[in-house]
Amino acid sequence: MHDFAFHRPTSLKDARALFARCDDASYLAGGMTLLPTLKQRLAMPSDLIDLSAVGELVGITITDSTVTIGAMTPHAMIETDKALAAAVPVLAAIARQVADPMVRSRGTIGGSLANSDPAADWPAAALGLGATLVTDSREIAADDFFTGLFETALEPGEILTAIRIPRPRRAAYEKFSQPASGFALVGVLAAETADGPRVAVTGAAACVFRQTAMEQALAASWSADAVRAVAVSADGLNSDIHAAADYRAHLVSVMAGRAVAAA
Ligand SMILES: Cc1cc2nc3c(=O)[nH]c(=O)nc-3n(C[C@H](O)[C@H](O)[C@H](O)COP(=O)(O)OP(=O)(O)OC[C@H]3O[C@@H](n4cnc5c(N)ncnc54)[C@H](O)[C@@H]3O)c2cc1C
Repeated sequence: MHDFAFHRPTSLKDARALFARCDDASYLAGGMTLLPTLKQRLAMPSDLIDLSAVGELVGITITDSTVTIGAMTPHAMIETDKALAAAVPVLAAIARQVADPMVRSRGTIGGSLANSDPAADWPAAALGLGATLVTDSREIAADDFFTGLFETALEPGEILTAIRIPRPRRAAYEKFSQPASGFALVGVLAAETADGPRVAVTGAAACVFRQTAMEQALAASWSADAVRAVAVSADGLNSDIHAAADYRAHLVSVMAGRAVAAA
């Protein structure tokens, strides 16, 4: 592994100040993506700024209208928090589907969102539930946050601090997993929110996206048949050794139907 300096600040302010002072720093969350990347020398930062001692980044707050989850909250905490499971059951259901117990104990919701892996589960939750991504300097609607393959609206040095999710009337997530990695070949979150139906698709394209034609169909009639009747184009969808674009398009339809039926 390439040499780097290691820092463990205890406040957001110190983390941000360190980033500004370093040549080419990276924040470290659970390291589940970043450490393999460093080992393969696909990234060679001068400094790693570990966020694990910044206590304000961990935790779950529930109100009548929202749930707020700190960026450094591990998947396992979301999976097992009983109050959260009662308030927004789909979140525990998603956490249970992320990777394996070891990854769930280290990997964080903020790391997953900041990473914007095209096949990750939490981006579908954020976009499908109409969340707000809170950073150390501003708030970003999920609709504006995921900008491309491993790309987000975060500016260099900006720290994702929390995700704030309006409690949906109902929601479900259905994932067709790639059997070797467990990541989504296609995953669909369907939700009925205060602002109307939302459908978010992960695994199918460069980053998570909304299926607006399905949302319109659900606004007219909340039913699995309504979403299955929407023609899903393969244009722009990923085609790789795991699945061709037209197969992914078919899976979008099937997973969306299942998510609507389960919600
Ligand atoms: C074997 C394996 C299987 C997996 N399977 C799945 C799966 O099925 N579904 C799924 O969704 N995910 C899966 N993952 C991904 C995993 O769950 C983690 O969410 C993901 O790797 C991010 O890890 P992390 O939280 O440790 O972040 P890190 O790896 O530490 O960081 C990831 C990136 O985000 C940046 N970052 C982290 N936190 C912040 C922050 N607060 N502010 C700004 N930038 C930040 C880092 O600088 C880095 O660029 C899998 C991972 C592994 C290793």
